[in-house]
Amino acid sequence: MNVLITGGAGYIGSHCSRYFRAQGVDVTILDDLSEGHREAVGDARLVVGDCGDGELLSRLFAEKTYDAVVHFAAFTSVGESVAEPRKYFHNNVENMLTLMNAAVDHGVGYFVFSSSAAVFGEPAELPIREDHPQRPINPYGETKMIGERMLADYERAYGLHSCSFRYFNAAGDAEDSAIGESHQPETHLIPLVIQAALGKRPPLTVFGTDYDTRDGSCIRDYVHVEDLASAHYLGLRYIMEHGTSEQFNLGSETGFTVLEIIQAVEKVTGLPVPYSLGARRAGDPAVLVAGNAKAKDLLGWDPKKSDLETILRDAYHWELKRTY
Ligand code: UDP
Repeated sequence: MNVLITGGAGYIGSHCSRYFRAQGVDVTILDDLSEGHREAVGDARLVVGDCGDGELLSRLFAEKTYDAVVHFAAFTSVGESVAEPRKYFHNNVENMLTLMNAAVDHGVGYFVFSSSAAVFGEPAELPIREDHPQRPINPYGETKMIGERMLADYERAYGLHSCSFRYFNAAGDAEDSAIGESHQPETHLIPLVIQAALGKRPPLTVFGTDYDTRDGSCIRDYVHVEDLASAHYLGLRYIMEHGTSEQFNLGSETGFTVLEIIQAVEKVTGLPVPYSLGARRAGDPAVLVAGNAKAKDLLGWDPKKSDLETILRDAYHWELKRTY
């Protein structure tokens, strides 16, 4: 099977590319390296370019027959999307449309899409299942919702089958520390807590201590990036076998507060985490927890690495050994 993976040099994309290759899939990565890392690609085939470059896509699709596109390339920062929506609609919507058109024009039948829990906005009920209303509260979430809707319309009109995955909080790193999370700047909680413990950055600020949760800090559902990778493979196989389109929420169905993450990092690393209590961050819902029954039932997905200890152990090892 030949698969084109956009954003395959990024955090989730690189773990997914590696997993697909381990399953014997022939992977071509398309990444402009604006946020991705050449080191994350290993010895996979890498085409450096923009997934919104129609001419480049025509050349790629003409030189090789691809069975599927797996689309990760996107901007992912909520705060930045509020400040610069133009950048987000251009990359996450316009470029995705160009990619979908190229796929359809060249007879690619399957499309796997990196969506987000941000499509749901403030949860009306927990855990958040797939049929929860979609009311995104920022441009990033809107771009992902539009992506899912474009795919639904393209299936109806052009028969492009798709699988969309709404990630909750992707975390952890490859078990062997060969690849891992590296954002510039880093904004995600787990790498920040570990780096603070190691003295690589100033003390962490806990964003908000007056939420209606068990200790006042926000609750999130952390899911191991290698479990996300296996879900993508299972999802692609599923839509190929069934000739259908599906959406799945990917999380562990267990929530942890920010303060619990700090305590768990102290336990796993044996190091004290310096932190201070601060104000809420704009746009943060109090609690986000995924309902993951659909992925388990339909795909046979088994998120066996998504217990907190494994996530933090792999994240700590990556932080000690990181090469990029
Ligand atoms: N968070 C925090 N301090 C930080 C970074 C994050 O308290 O320096 C909190 C954030 O408010 C949220 C949780 O940690 O409740 C996870 O945030 P992250 O940015 O990792 O992921 P998000 O939930 O925004 O996708």
